[in-house]
Amino acid sequence: KSPDYAEMFRAHDLLQKFYHHLLVNTKEGTVATKYLQQRGFTEEVINRFKIGYAPNTWDVASRFLEKRGFNLHEMAKAGLIVRKDSDGTYFDRFRDRIMFPIWDNQGRTIAFGGRILYEGEPKYLNSPETKIFNKSKTLYGLHLARPEIRKKQQVILFEGYVDVIAAHRAGVENGVASLGTSLTDEQANIIRRNAENVTICYDSDSAGINAAYRAASVLTNAGCTVRVSKMPEGFDPDDYIRTYGYESFQNNVIGTSLTLMAFKIEFLRRGKNLQDEGELVAYIEEVLKEISLLPKAVERDRYLRALSEEFSISLDALKSEQYQIYRKLR
Ligand code: ATP
Ligand code: MN
Ligand code: MN
Ligand code: MN
Repeated sequence: KSPDYAEMFRAHDLLQKFYHHLLVNTKEGTVATKYLQQRGFTEEVINRFKIGYAPNTWDVASRFLEKRGFNLHEMAKAGLIVRKDSDGTYFDRFRDRIMFPIWDNQGRTIAFGGRILYEGEPKYLNSPETKIFNKSKTLYGLHLARPEIRKKQQVILFEGYVDVIAAHRAGVENGVASLGTSLTDEQANIIRRNAENVTICYDSDSAGINAAYRAASVLTNAGCTVRVSKMPEGFDPDDYIRTYGYESFQNNVIGTSLTLMAFKIEFLRRGKNLQDEGELVAYIEEVLKEISLLPKAVERDRYLRALSEEFSISLDALKSEQYQIYRKLR
């Protein structure tokens, strides 16, 4: 690879150490440290995830990089600083933000995600895509989670960095996250190469639930066996852990995840009034379509029976309807 790649990696590495130093050792960092403590981040976790702080100034990172001899034009292309068009000077991209380094599969820092302290817009600011940072091929936390993923033969997929970190604190160390976009085929393939079983643990709001439904099909296409965890409406894993504790997260969220089919059945029910004849018929058709996609006859039979019992519909009627749908789908 050309030498400017090496420079990009080196700049990210040094800046990550610098931001971490600013958080841990300086007076400017104390506000950020307090924020992190309030959110339950321990010292162990701050060190393991190499969390840092970008102070509220326009030029600490630019001056740091310049002093170390980096070409600022290249650093702007690396997304670490921004070039002002009016006079060609440079200013810091990340200001007054908690800095989460983003790593490639080997653990090299290739980008940053910066969260605003307290409230503000945008809440998260991420590095743009660069020569070394391809969002759709990156999973947050993968190299740290890999030993536990191998051991458990399972990946837990979260929505946010903070959720990966909170879960780690709760003893769930096989978590990764996509980077603020919906899960891509490339990310699913990377997951599949590390383990077959995936538990999706997204935020329990409608955005998260819809995203979980889509991620489930991307993962299934990649050959993964998918389960989906359940949390009370409105919670994300980090909120849950802070409210109900580590043990409850392990036992009642990760430990009691739904099979994909059970999740889909709940998903298809959302917002429907099953007392209404028309809505019930539509619901049953959607469930039958999902049942048709199941590869095993025994499984199809089990769900057909459950449907038949719940809605007092004859099993024969359901079976013939399901067969019609199956033939249409082929
Ligand atoms: P926090 O707990 O700090 O509020 P979160 O992870 O719960 O963070 P969400 O709003 O649930 O935040 O978003 C989930 C993920 O989506 C984030 O971790 C981040 O990767 C991404 N994201 C959220 N807001 C933005 C944004 N404005 N720009 C880019 N990515 C974002
Ligand atoms: Mn959310
Ligand atoms: Mn969230
Ligand atoms: Mn959150």
